[in-house]
Amino acid sequence: MVVELISVGTEILLGNIVNTNAAYLSEKCAALGLSCYYQDVVGDNEERLAETIRLALSRADIILLSGGLGPTEDDLTKEVAARVMGRNLYLHEESKTAIQNYFEKRGLEITDNNWKQAMVPEGCIVLDNPNGTAPGIIMAENGKHVVLMPGPPGEMIPMFETSVMSYLSKLQSCVIYSKTVKVCGVGESKAETMIKDMIDEQTNPTIATYAKTGEVHLRVTARAEDEKAAKKLVKPVVKELKTRFGDSIYTTEEDITLEKAIVDLLKEYKLTASTVESCTGGMLAARLINVPGVSDVFQAGFVTYSNKSKRKTLGIKKGTLLKYGAVSEETAKAMVKGAAFLTKTDVCVATTGIAGPDGGTEKKPVGLVYIACSVCGHITVKECHFSGNRAKIRENSVSAALELMRKCILQSDAISER
Ligand code: ATP
Ligand code: MG
Repeated sequence: MVVELISVGTEILLGNIVNTNAAYLSEKCAALGLSCYYQDVVGDNEERLAETIRLALSRADIILLSGGLGPTEDDLTKEVAARVMGRNLYLHEESKTAIQNYFEKRGLEITDNNWKQAMVPEGCIVLDNPNGTAPGIIMAENGKHVVLMPGPPGEMIPMFETSVMSYLSKLQSCVIYSKTVKVCGVGESKAETMIKDMIDEQTNPTIATYAKTGEVHLRVTARAEDEKAAKKLVKPVVKELKTRFGDSIYTTEEDITLEKAIVDLLKEYKLTASTVESCTGGMLAARLINVPGVSDVFQAGFVTYSNKSKRKTLGIKKGTLLKYGAVSEETAKAMVKGAAFLTKTDVCVATTGIAGPDGGTEKKPVGLVYIACSVCGHITVKECHFSGNRAKIRENSVSAALELMRKCILQSDAISER
């Protein structure tokens, strides 16, 4: 089936807000196996919106609209969509009660225009909105389905996940099943080369590669009459990817991040960890601490930015800094040594680099980053060369540090002998 997205809002046209709803919905629709050929953005204008809906109806089976369901005058998506579909609006008592409860619960005063949100088109399906006051709406007729959802992502996403997704999947005669194989430490082009033959031959399942910072995700998607059959198609392809990428695969689970995989690994081997950062300024510790339950393994994270703090906090010798510089293999080593000694942790990771835009030299250009990892006293250092702006270099450094951390834990003799 063909789906078309319409994002309503002058704010989007003016570039005041980024159309994240369209990105979210496109990804979800693709996962559901719906084909999307057009996406539209239209301002809060009655005629242009009506025209856009008519056009979308002429070329798609499902139209997903977001935005313009609010209580104010410029919110007119529902009125216009109902007009195009030739339906009148009526007061939906349940929505009226839901709006009343929403305001009472928050101790807010209802204004008259809020009742506008309880008006719905005749013969529609009304979708709950526990996170706001505008109910969602589905109008279906002659094989066409028009879905209206509120604009704020905090309302739209839960509504899509709890009601719209199941409605759309019922419209599909086949199911789509996909599994994501997440790889770290292999660049996108190398990853693609490694599976070029598989990509060239793909029909069902298909393999799509997505480049993320420091990672590549390979999504294997199959289409079949039921989930069991689709899973059966996906399984051998995932197995083949596992053979080709081996240890570089850190998970095949959708909701597992690299940092979560590392925390799980630390727990599995009963290891404690710490971080010591210069150019990443705490971002590495923050990513690890984002993982719930990290307190079982994570002890401390230092940010030692200046040379003075590297000396005073970590006890790095002045001579090391003078001779090799703060951005060097030796300093990175001394950082993990110092922090591991202070925290008595099994695993310690350090970052030191030149994030720019200033501070680069011919010998040590912007983007040069040293990452060190010590596992039970054994230290590994990696020299990295990143491009991009300061933010990108720091982000890449964090990903590289996580990747090195994982690799060192997996390859440590001290751990495997335990
Ligand atoms: P409200 O009741 O808040 O007015 P609404 O359904 O009328 O909701 P809009 O007025 O179109 O929605 O947008 C409200 C807010 O929702 C916007 O200011 C913006 O923050 C967010 N929003 C709307 N559309 C999008 C979009 N396509 N992508 C991301 N955010 C959006
Ligand atoms: Mg609005």
